[in-house]
Amino acid sequence: MNDEIGFDRFGLHPDVLDGLAAMGFRKPSPVQQQAIPLILDGRDLIACAQTGTGKTAAFVLPLIDHLIDLDDRHLSALILTPTRELALQIDQQIEGLSYYSPISSIPIYGGGDGALWDQQHKALRQGADLVVATPGRLWSFMATGNFQFDRLRYLILDEADRMLDMGFLEDIMRIVARLPKERQTLMFSATMPDRIRQLASSILRDPAQVSIAVSRPADKIEQMALQVMDDRKLEVLLALLAEFPFRSALIFCSSKDKVKQLHQTLRKSGVMNEAFHSDLEQQVREEIMRGFKAGRLPVLVGTDVLSRGIDVDNIDLVINYDVPPDPEDYVHRIGRTGRAERNGRSITIVNPMDLRRWKRIEELVGRALPWTERPLCGWIGSVPKSESRGSSGGKGGRKPSYKKRSK
Ligand code: AMP
Repeated sequence: MNDEIGFDRFGLHPDVLDGLAAMGFRKPSPVQQQAIPLILDGRDLIACAQTGTGKTAAFVLPLIDHLIDLDDRHLSALILTPTRELALQIDQQIEGLSYYSPISSIPIYGGGDGALWDQQHKALRQGADLVVATPGRLWSFMATGNFQFDRLRYLILDEADRMLDMGFLEDIMRIVARLPKERQTLMFSATMPDRIRQLASSILRDPAQVSIAVSRPADKIEQMALQVMDDRKLEVLLALLAEFPFRSALIFCSSKDKVKQLHQTLRKSGVMNEAFHSDLEQQVREEIMRGFKAGRLPVLVGTDVLSRGIDVDNIDLVINYDVPPDPEDYVHRIGRTGRAERNGRSITIVNPMDLRRWKRIEELVGRALPWTERPLCGWIGSVPKSESRGSSGGKGGRKPSYKKRSK
């Protein structure tokens, strides 16, 4: 990942940059890096990107940027999305990113009672810059003929493959037929089967293409997570290494300094391990890797350098001592286990500050991952003094037993 690339290189309006800062987005994700300049240039776009890649902001940011200085505010952009949850999420992201801009949006989605219908009807009549809608509900409103989209300039189809899977093609085509032909159209889809390409060729004009390949973790990897406060991480790590049998294990930390520190601490606790990071000479790295491959060295502690360049088939345990900031790194890290059709296990230690990152990982992986919980209280809270003393070595302490929370 290139740390030098920031959002400022896109020439976005200062109010948009303020919105980004308020949301805590510091560096554009790959889909944002590729899509934002094309959208700002006015190109139609077809983008292959999954949830979790930052695709929403990839289209929301240029939209806000385009609309921010309009004197005459009217309905300018329509975002079609398959579900109520996505409509609400996109609307929330618009609200966050346009916090310092005069942009308004309304979510329109099905379900609910008559009161929700009335409320959405009223909101549509009052108007907004952007409408985020599920196709079925929007068409129900449009069919009454009351709503004008004649000044619309942007149409976005989000999760197009899922909308087709849900049977929205007809509604989409009816809606599109009522929109101005002179517009910019963007289509995002996690997959690109033929029917998506056909839809694209019927509603996009000479689209630019962006494709973000993300490999999902192999099914053979058992993934779990533990909520642990920082002051108990080491203790938990030692307990995990004692609890789960392994031949070869990788432990990932977020920085070189942490790797070096953890390597020493584990060594003092009797865990045979080596540190692996970019400060090491190539020759030393190769030597460590040979020992690990041969099974002479059971544990490697490393940064993400380890997740990209390691080619070892029999790793049975991956522990994320820290949650990676980039969800794709999670996929790379845990992909080191469960290779060659073998079973593998990955355990991620999540502190309360990392919960948001963890949520993004779940979005990328496409499902909620199970929490593993210790039946004793105390992992999450601060450590009682009597228990913390001497327990970090993991020796002599109670051996924990873990049980999976039933879903
Ligand atoms: P999406 O793929 O659009 O559903 O985004 C997944 C998550 O990533 C959302 O929670 C966003 O708030 C977050 N996100 C999107 N772009 C960035 C970024 N550049 N930096 C940090 N978080 C981001």
